[in-house]
Amino acid sequence: MFHAKTKEQTIKDLNTNAELGLTEKETTKCQKEFGKNKLSEAKPPQAIFIFLKQFSNFFTIILLVAAALSLILKEHFDFVVILAAVSFNLVIGFIQEFKAAKTIYGLKKMVFITAKVLREGRVHKILAEDLVPGDIIFVDAGDKVPADARLLESLDLHTREAILTGEATPSKKKADKIFPEKTPLADRENMIYMGTFCLSGKAKATVTACGPNSEMGKIASLALKTKEKQTPLETKMKSLSLEIAFLTFAAILLILFGGVIRGIALSEMFLTAIALAVAVIPEGLLVTVVIVLTLGMRRILERKALVRELLAAETLGSTTVICTDKTGTITSGEMRVEQILTADRVFNVKDFKNTKDPALMKIFQVGLLCNDVYVENDEGENENRWKFLGDPTETALFYAAGKADLKKRNFEKNYKLLDEIPFDSYLKYMAVAQKNLENGQIEFFVKGSCERILDFSSHFFEKSEIKEFTRFNQKEKFLELNSQLSQKAYRVLACGYKILGKIPKNLDMKKETTVGLVFLGLVAIRDPVRTSVKEAIKTCEEAGIRVKMITGDHKATAKVIGQEVGINAAENEILSGEDLDFLPPAELGSKICQAKIFARVAPKHKLQIVEALQEKKEIVAMTGDGVNDTPALKAANIGIAMGQGSEAARETSNMILLNNNFKTIEAAVEEGRIIFDNIRKVTLYLLLYTFAKVILIGGALLFNFALPLLPVQILWMNIIEDGLPDFALAFEKKEKGIMKEKPKNISEQILNPVSKIIIFLVGLPAAILLFAVYFYLVNKGFDENYLRSLVFITLALTSVITVYSCKSLRTSICHRSVFTNRFLNIAVITSIFLLILAIYLPGLQTILKTMPLGIFEWLFAFAFAALNILAIEIIKKIFNKPKIQMSNIK
Ligand code: ADP
Ligand code: MG
Repeated sequence: MFHAKTKEQTIKDLNTNAELGLTEKETTKCQKEFGKNKLSEAKPPQAIFIFLKQFSNFFTIILLVAAALSLILKEHFDFVVILAAVSFNLVIGFIQEFKAAKTIYGLKKMVFITAKVLREGRVHKILAEDLVPGDIIFVDAGDKVPADARLLESLDLHTREAILTGEATPSKKKADKIFPEKTPLADRENMIYMGTFCLSGKAKATVTACGPNSEMGKIASLALKTKEKQTPLETKMKSLSLEIAFLTFAAILLILFGGVIRGIALSEMFLTAIALAVAVIPEGLLVTVVIVLTLGMRRILERKALVRELLAAETLGSTTVICTDKTGTITSGEMRVEQILTADRVFNVKDFKNTKDPALMKIFQVGLLCNDVYVENDEGENENRWKFLGDPTETALFYAAGKADLKKRNFEKNYKLLDEIPFDSYLKYMAVAQKNLENGQIEFFVKGSCERILDFSSHFFEKSEIKEFTRFNQKEKFLELNSQLSQKAYRVLACGYKILGKIPKNLDMKKETTVGLVFLGLVAIRDPVRTSVKEAIKTCEEAGIRVKMITGDHKATAKVIGQEVGINAAENEILSGEDLDFLPPAELGSKICQAKIFARVAPKHKLQIVEALQEKKEIVAMTGDGVNDTPALKAANIGIAMGQGSEAARETSNMILLNNNFKTIEAAVEEGRIIFDNIRKVTLYLLLYTFAKVILIGGALLFNFALPLLPVQILWMNIIEDGLPDFALAFEKKEKGIMKEKPKNISEQILNPVSKIIIFLVGLPAAILLFAVYFYLVNKGFDENYLRSLVFITLALTSVITVYSCKSLRTSICHRSVFTNRFLNIAVITSIFLLILAIYLPGLQTILKTMPLGIFEWLFAFAFAALNILAIEIIKKIFNKPKIQMSNIK
């Protein structure tokens, strides 16, 4: 195996080339031979299983038992109708669940892993699944190792292999070792394994095994079985349905009992009870909720964010604070150097070309050699064609040096990288040790925040001379320049270097690079603000969501950028990393809640911020992209990773921003609110006329009347009401004003006061009124079947039409948005058509025991429906008034 072979032998065995990588031809051939580099992944949803699953539904089972019973009782019509109802429920349930499963599967497939690979001499970013054995790959901190690989070069590499070996502590890796053949997996320090994480350092390696042949692949069948979490919403919905089921069960038992006492045949009463159970229990609710959630996730995706779990979709709507990175999220991240300041000169972009200023040249050298960006293409004059992979700050240095016709490879020829401290938001600098191949000297190149580099420097470069910092005010001068540039919203980098005659025995990077540097100057980088951000922040503010900006940049830079996007922070509303470290704990919490900007912070502070806010019962959304951000992402209610962020961050996040734009966070929150809104509408609508049937049947038994609705009629109504319009409500679009309200409380019940009042002040009285009419007409001696038909169309029509009132709990039904939901219109028309069929189609008339009704009866039904709508609208009006006033005052 490769851990027992030398690097050279490995490269030979794999038939590859460490400097150029494989050719396209070789990789295509390999791919044909070995297939894709992926584990047997989650299978797409299978129709047949989802269909069979429908039979495990409790209500389906009850119905099937009822069907069997009616067959035994020789009630053939009822048998057919119940079977039809079962089939209908099965089909609708199947369609809904299949659709949801497909969407979720599609979303899961979008979470892909990328790899940096060297092919034909160039570095590319490709999908990890396209790797083949022999490929030369690069891994950096935060990457997920894309395949099993033998290290060729490594710098301070540590990986976490817990997923493979169960070992939680970081494993140290080194390219230059060879191990005996029998070494256990966990001790093979010259190998990295697919699915493990690179925690720090970086490496170049060659792929030895892919997909199912990898170590991960061998145990994949075990690792793939991750369980889906149940979201709090699902739990809420389940307990709600259970409560309703319990209530109905009690009511139905009573009714059954009452009927038998009245001397109605047990078989008939039994069917009535079953039909009532079917009508009352909102069996469609859970599935419809899942549909609302998945539809919402899809809409969020259209707005360029990928929600990784259903849970996040619903929590989004309750977000009260968004903590967002400045760099790349509020700003565009397309950074360009605009000025370089040395001790004696200011260089603008146009001065970069054709100068031979030694300080400027040295700054470019530091910028290129102390740089972790991979060059994909930097050839030709046209810089629009250039492509770099990596940190935008460092990319900016490539463009700047390019203006002076300097490329990394010009320098690389003469240097060999010995060691590196990669950039880290905590350290705020980066350093490399390079061996000069011409004279054997070792040179250190360092870049980072101005304060840091000044701290490390003992000398500075002025007019081609190296001078010593003798007086403190010489450093002061650079700090002053730094602060001036920051106030102009520049992101500022400082550069320094140091030369040692010979390579020390034990090279201690930390020690060498933090003392005795020669300070070169400042690089001012422009990172323009994204255009849509200002408006998005304003929308958040109106929606009662506070936006806090977090950055490692200088306070002054952060403040100016904040002003540009409408985060106007007073001096005491800006906290620095130092403040967070040294404020007394008693004050810290409230200070963090007040602050609008956090500057010069390190990733560990993010966790502190999240925790302080959560202490104050805030629902926090937090962005992040590095490995160091993962604890904060995990702790936040909504952890948001950048699309280009590290694999580690993406894996712990709840949502991934595909375009890194702050605007997208705001859009996702809005969609989250729409989701909750729609769930509320669906639930309200399902429950609105549920109890009406219980009252009608129970009342009839109480007063010893013939039943006002037959079991088959109740079943038919169940199809008309619950099946179509309710499903269609799930497709409701955004309501106006949804982002003008305060965030809803996370523990807020699905049915808010308005909806409860609507159920109790409309649903119940309507049933009683209808019963009174029935009571009156029975006493007048009208025909039973005629009256049943009347009750049937009145209740069904009312229920179908009031869906338009349930469509919005904010705006009245007389709004031009009433008919905007195409699905709803189709559903309502279909339902009314089914209702007409039930009354006029001779075959159905016999089954449903209905009779054709005239214009007068229809008028009555319509009038009754109109009365209901009026009542709902009045309740809506009363409840919405105070809210409108509140927003007016604001
Ligand atoms: P941000 O949250 O704005 O990305 P960082 O913590 O990444 O902040 O950066 C803070 C400071 O560190 C910057 O103002 C800059 O001076 C310096 N810096 C940023 N990126 C690099 C880098 N790749 N190498 C060296 N210094 C850097
Ligand atoms: Mg950064």
